[in-house]
Amino acid sequence: MKHASANLDTACIHAGQAPDKLFGGVSVPIFQSSTFAFEDADQGAARFSGKDNGYKYTRIGNPTTAALECCIAELEGGAAGLATATGMAAISTVFMTFLGAGQHAVSTGSVYGPTRTLLENELSRFGVESTFVDTADLDSVKNAVKSNTKLIYVETPANPTLAITDIAAIAEIAKKAGILLVVDNTFCSPILQKPLALGADIVLHSMTKFINGHSDVVAGMLVTKDAGLRKRMHQVLCQVGGTIDPHQAWLVLRGVKTLSLRVKAAQASAMRLAEELEKHPKIEWVKYPGLKSHPQYELAKKQMAGPGAMISFELKGGVKAGKTVMDSVGLSTLAVSLGGIESLIQHPASMTHASMGPESRAQAGISDGLVRFSVGCEDYEDIKADLWQALDKI
Ligand SMILES: *Cc1c(COP(=O)(O)O)cnc(C)c1O
Repeated sequence: MKHASANLDTACIHAGQAPDKLFGGVSVPIFQSSTFAFEDADQGAARFSGKDNGYKYTRIGNPTTAALECCIAELEGGAAGLATATGMAAISTVFMTFLGAGQHAVSTGSVYGPTRTLLENELSRFGVESTFVDTADLDSVKNAVKSNTKLIYVETPANPTLAITDIAAIAEIAKKAGILLVVDNTFCSPILQKPLALGADIVLHSMTKFINGHSDVVAGMLVTKDAGLRKRMHQVLCQVGGTIDPHQAWLVLRGVKTLSLRVKAAQASAMRLAEELEKHPKIEWVKYPGLKSHPQYELAKKQMAGPGAMISFELKGGVKAGKTVMDSVGLSTLAVSLGGIESLIQHPASMTHASMGPESRAQAGISDGLVRFSVGCEDYEDIKADLWQALDKI
């Protein structure tokens, strides 16, 4: 593996990748093979016993996947990466590895909808208990930790409320209790936030979003502070089977090369858009970590290298106005997901967070008129003109 520079712009392009040894191909080859031939019976036995760390079978490991794992681990400043088929495969691998019957998890309330549903509706069937709190409020986290709590799960900025949790402060609480801190870093990408440096044990991504960045792949990644945590999760992933496909891993390797460029371009437009939306007469409020009006503006400045490309806003006129805007945008695509090179707009109450039910949504601060906007890399004036003509239709 090639170790790139500490500079993230450079690391995005080079980390974990070197010209291939066979023909010198500059791009990492796609090893689209489910299985790997052994030279003889002894080598096959040595690979299974662990004496030889060569490849055996793609569910267990693959060279293209390994290059991607090295790349993202380096970007996050972690010891090791573990790629998964989707972001949810990464999240379910964490829960299945570190939680069991009679054990308990504390999670951000306004977490990615399916993450909450997984804990509430599925893991509860196996005797795993979970408590959802506003992790931006440190006392409610402290109060939620019990003797059987095994992990704290944080998503910051939260989706779609953009509430910020103080990762370093939560890491202190986790350390005192002797439990793991897991952070979903999807909204920031490693370009804007480094949870491991702030004290988290595991950082995870839906690489479907910013890291791949082209709305053409679903994939996930786990990065751990130490290699032991990766080893344990790898054992579970191998049995559960949420492995990434090598071609999919290669597409993400290609996408990540422009991660830093894309995040910076989209963020610059998001900052301008948030400022102008705040002054728009049809807007009730705007949530964006780069605005002084954001309740945790100072914490965002301290913890994040930039405010990111995600904006949430509430329209005057609630659900009806929201529907009008969604049906009127042209350049921005009405679609769930985020972090693509194209601007995406969606309505969480009826789409991504519909599965939570109205009570959980209200508790998590997801109002009916809330619109989530993932700012893309189109020209700023084009993005603005499209949104403004849609707002005019209300
Ligand atoms: C999309 C998303 C996920 C789930 O990822 P998939 O790749 O869709 O499985 C998890 N967390 C956050 C914050 C997300 O945005």
